[in-house]
Amino acid sequence: MYDVTIIGAGVVGTAIARELAKYDLKTVLVDKENDVSNGTTKANSAIVHAGFDCKPNTEKAKMNVRGNEMYEQMCKDLDVPFKKIGSFVVAFDEDDLTTLDKLKKQGEINGVPGLKILSKEEVEKREPNLSKDVIGALYAPSAGIVGSYELAIALAENAADNGVNILLNSPVTNIDKTAEGFQITAGKETLVSHFVINCAGVYADKINNFVNKPTFEILPFIGEYNLFDKSTGDFLNTIVFQAPSSKGKGVVSLPTVEGNFLIGPTSEGPKQPNDLKTSRNGLQELREKGAKVVPNFPFHKVITSFAGLRAKVAHNDFIIEESETANFINVAAIDSPGLTAAPAIAEKVMEMLKDKLVDLQANMTFVPTRRPVTRFMESSNEMKAELIGKDHRYGRVICRCENITEAEIVDMIHRHAGATTVDGVKRRIRAGAGRCQGGFCAPRVMEILARERNVDVLSIVKDKQDSYILTGETKATTVEFV
Ligand SMILES: Cc1cc2nc3c(=O)[nH]c(=O)nc-3n(C[C@H](O)[C@H](O)[C@H](O)COP(=O)(O)OP(=O)(O)OC[C@H]3O[C@@H](n4cnc5c(N)ncnc54)[C@H](O)[C@@H]3O)c2cc1C
Repeated sequence: MYDVTIIGAGVVGTAIARELAKYDLKTVLVDKENDVSNGTTKANSAIVHAGFDCKPNTEKAKMNVRGNEMYEQMCKDLDVPFKKIGSFVVAFDEDDLTTLDKLKKQGEINGVPGLKILSKEEVEKREPNLSKDVIGALYAPSAGIVGSYELAIALAENAADNGVNILLNSPVTNIDKTAEGFQITAGKETLVSHFVINCAGVYADKINNFVNKPTFEILPFIGEYNLFDKSTGDFLNTIVFQAPSSKGKGVVSLPTVEGNFLIGPTSEGPKQPNDLKTSRNGLQELREKGAKVVPNFPFHKVITSFAGLRAKVAHNDFIIEESETANFINVAAIDSPGLTAAPAIAEKVMEMLKDKLVDLQANMTFVPTRRPVTRFMESSNEMKAELIGKDHRYGRVICRCENITEAEIVDMIHRHAGATTVDGVKRRIRAGAGRCQGGFCAPRVMEILARERNVDVLSIVKDKQDSYILTGETKATTVEFV
């Protein structure tokens, strides 16, 4: 019997799993997908928001500001890329300047440090590539950029290193309340557990409804993005939002922590919880809104487009509470700024559990750090020579766009919560994340996955279950020697 079953291995579920690993609890983290971080966590702006945008005294405001404070240490412990580059909300007219003042006051109430209104000249000095029509900006120095899926993967790995079980390919299709707790049908498994924590993203209402009245409905709103080549990664130094106005919300333009450039998201919905299609109109909108802020940006350098789904609810705040059924905790409606808030949400859920588990002991063997990731191309020449001396696979470059070696890929396959798919490798170590988007290296990555996992290469999928790349051999011949 488990003490706690967490449903959903996005950034929220994985952050909770790691927090619970600090205590003497038997925990299982369950997901329907074949990898952790395969829901909204893999498709967002990856901004660690400062927290001026949320209405004061909401869960969003509290979790955002606390989560932001926790990022630096968490990313250091887990060796996850994070840069505190600050954000601007830019103004184009007097109305926008009034909005900036309101946002600054709201941010101060929320406890956001260092907010400052900058003049046109100050903005231009820091961001010479911004539109000359910008007349001022709200500067938030505590905002940052992070690798969103790298973070969830690292949280899951660290949780598993510290004893949490991870059960993938296991959709939860039923939950029964029993005398001791809950009986959960998860794929082929039947789990019994004292507590359930529902972190199922855009499906959290369905999970809630197995044991509770339908007290909330998730309304998935799609956000589309364009991602640009690394040659554009230094076009801006700061995350740049447009001041929201009666004419709309604008889009965000920002460098990514991996050195690319991102413009997005749109907002449209409600959609079906599995509708992740990008659209011609959506991508056109990004181009038009982006051009208002960065008119000279080389938009033709787009390398891919993608979309994510916000788990919105009508009352527009996070739900982090025990449901009407005791010991069943909903962590639902975690739309933006859920990535930022995740560590604070985990802290809050742990406090809720501690209230119920009076004699709970700490896990004395908990190790907060993850084994560091070797990033070969970022190493010094001496270190590169040493690495190749120890393992010749560091000398074999597999992804030529991102310069990723075979040894780095193998390492990502053999860690806890390791890669089993082509995109799983991409999300962990960036093989296939470059300009050619895996056009050259995907077949090599498949061979490595098949060899290291000792499975048939035909069974290796691109990303989700059934996303097969190979269907069979085309030139197989049987040669008989006499
Ligand atoms: C367009 C967009 C932009 C955003 N930008 C930002 C940003 O810049 N900064 C920020 O802080 N936040 C941002 N967010 C919000 C942030 O991405 C989310 O709040 C966060 O990723 C939510 O994480 P999660 O773990 O709750 O959900 P998810 O990552 O969706 O995880 C839920 C998991 O539950 C699993 N699941 C669902 N049903 C079942 C089932 N029946 N059985 C088993 N498993 C199940 C899914 O497979 C999934 O892995 C953005 C969101 C969007 C859509």
